[in-house]
Amino acid sequence: GARIGILGGGQLGRMLSVAAARLGFTTHIFDPSSAPPAGHVADRVTTAGFEDEAALRAFAETVDVITYEFENIPTAALDILEELKPIRPGREALRVSQDRLTEKTFLQDLGLATAPFAEVADAAELDAALEHVGTPSILKTRRFGYDGKGQVRLMDPSEAPAALAAMQGAPAILEGFVPFSHEVSVIAARSLNGKVACYDPAENVHLEGVLSTSTVPANLSTGQSMDAVLMAGKILNALDYVGVLGVEIFVTGHGLVVNEIAPRVHNSGHWTQEGCTIDQFEQHIRAIAGWTIGNGARYADVVMENLIGDDVDRIADLAKEPDCAIHLYGKTEAKPGRKMGHVNRVIRSEGRDGW
Ligand code: ATP
Ligand code: MG
Ligand code: MG
Repeated sequence: GARIGILGGGQLGRMLSVAAARLGFTTHIFDPSSAPPAGHVADRVTTAGFEDEAALRAFAETVDVITYEFENIPTAALDILEELKPIRPGREALRVSQDRLTEKTFLQDLGLATAPFAEVADAAELDAALEHVGTPSILKTRRFGYDGKGQVRLMDPSEAPAALAAMQGAPAILEGFVPFSHEVSVIAARSLNGKVACYDPAENVHLEGVLSTSTVPANLSTGQSMDAVLMAGKILNALDYVGVLGVEIFVTGHGLVVNEIAPRVHNSGHWTQEGCTIDQFEQHIRAIAGWTIGNGARYADVVMENLIGDDVDRIADLAKEPDCAIHLYGKTEAKPGRKMGHVNRVIRSEGRDGW
């Protein structure tokens, strides 16, 4: 089997490693932290920073293809790795999604609706952006934000100085607040030869900026579901994408608005582990290894619930539920806000009850 290199050893890297092992591949994780969650299940781990050129080169030597579990990999590291082994998904997907300004511009150029937005580098630009975008709005750092970090809401232009201070000098983007009724996401995949497969849209609920639950089926009409899936397909093709992609979407009275894209397996796709024959992790490994991908068909209704911080203390009770699949990430310290695991509750399955 081929050897798969994964940049980042968090829970996504861990679940990718398990899927890769099941397909007969070996995995090598590259992560700056000494005991990453994926380390327990991967064949090999390199503990080094992304600025360590020698470590990057040595890592690339041991693998046939490189993928990643997070999009904020420094460009310099990618430059080194790209010379040595294929990186999938490719550089264009990373370039576009690493920066919210590039990302929104790309989406608009594709003809997809986004929140109104404007670039903000200083106080004068924020004033101009507030003229254009108005309030309520959200000021976000252009890069490195996740789980709602690096974001400030503005209800009134008078809040501009405080919001700008919260950016700590980082380049930012002002986004108009989208009055959505609910949020959904589409997890989609594209193979090396351009075949596209999409999973059913999931409906996502966030608490304090962090994903709490994903439910399939989502509350969408057939037409809306089709729109959402077609949006994902359009993005995949425009990027000549290989692998799994997550597309976060706001549902509004005036149609679907894309929030952001993630060039990787996605938390809101964890339900596929219990809802589909081929889950997002196997799908991603198949795609980057050049295999044929699965069709994304769903055979059960599922509610995925993230176990955040102390939630993990409920594990004994969760284990008593007969239709609740448990996925723990092997993290020892349950800090507040930290994703410790998730469960997938299968609400209805086509098969008969268990014995
Ligand atoms: P993730 O962990 O999904 O990468 P993130 O830090 O990149 O999160 P966003 O997805 O941009 O942040 O925003 C987090 C949440 O905040 C969204 O899911 C949505 O609930 C809300 N939000 C963000 N931008 C907007 C907007 N323009 N209008 C309305 N709500 C928004
Ligand atoms: Mg994000
Ligand atoms: Mg998001």
